Parts: sequence; structure tokens; C-alpha cells
Amino acid sequence: MSETLFEKIMAREIPADIVLETETTLAFRDINPRATTHVLVIPKTRYRNVADLAAADPQLLADVISTADEVAKLEGVAASGYRVTFNTGDDAGQTVFHVHAHVLGGQSLGPEASR
Ligand code: AMP
Repeated sequence: MSETLFEKIMAREIPADIVLETETTLAFRDINPRATTHVLVIPKTRYRNVADLAAADPQLLADVISTADEVAKLEGVAASGYRVTFNTGDDAGQTVFHVHAHVLGGQSLGPEASR
């Protein structure tokens, strides 16, 4: 598999606004935020999507969710509520094929999708 943008961010070859780093995950602000708080959480090991991650390494998926919750606390949105989403495939608009959680909050988010 060729490198994605997120490998370059992990390697610090592309700058990113890093919010939190753990042994197994990295959290950084989305460059095009769709909410007051919009942070991406990636596992340091690459899987194409959340289903592949869950099948291969459930503990690493749990680490991603724990980091998302930690980010929500750091951003001050844990109490008011936040959303964690994983886009998978074309209809969901997945553009980077290194699994990532979108952590969204800081405002009322409305329904999950529009049609
Ligand atoms: P997805 O559409 O679920 O694959 O999400 C990919 C996300 O990466 C989008 O929300 C983009 O805005 C975000 N993104 C693209 N380039 C960068 C970058 N250089 N730094 C931070 N986020 C980025």
C-alpha cells in the first residue's frame, strides 16, 4: 500500500495541529473543520477502514475510541456531547484510506446525515 497523507502527518513531513499523541494513536485537527471541534484520531498502524481495524486489532480500535474521548475532554466538549464517526467508502465520502475517527462537537450537531 502506498503512503497516505496521514503517514506523512505521523512522520511530521506534513504539518498538522496535533492535539494528543499516545503510544498507539495520533489526534490532530481537521484542516477543513465541519464543527467547532473537529479532530481526527488515527491508529499509528494503518488499516483501510474501521471494519478492517476491528477485525485485525480490536484493542487498537478501543485505543482510538479512548483517545477520541480524551480529546473530547481536552477540548471541553465531553460533558456537552460529541460525535465520533468513521467514513467507509464512497457514499460516506471517505477520502483518506487510513482509518480515522472524526471527533465532532462544541455545538449542536443535528442528525447524522442529510438527504
Ligand atoms: P474522510 O473524508 O473521512 O476520509 O476524512 C478525511 C479528512 O481529512 C477530511 O475531513 C479532510 O478535511 C481532512 N484532511 C485532509 N487533509 C488534511 C490535512 N493536511 N490535515 C488535517 N486534516 C486533513
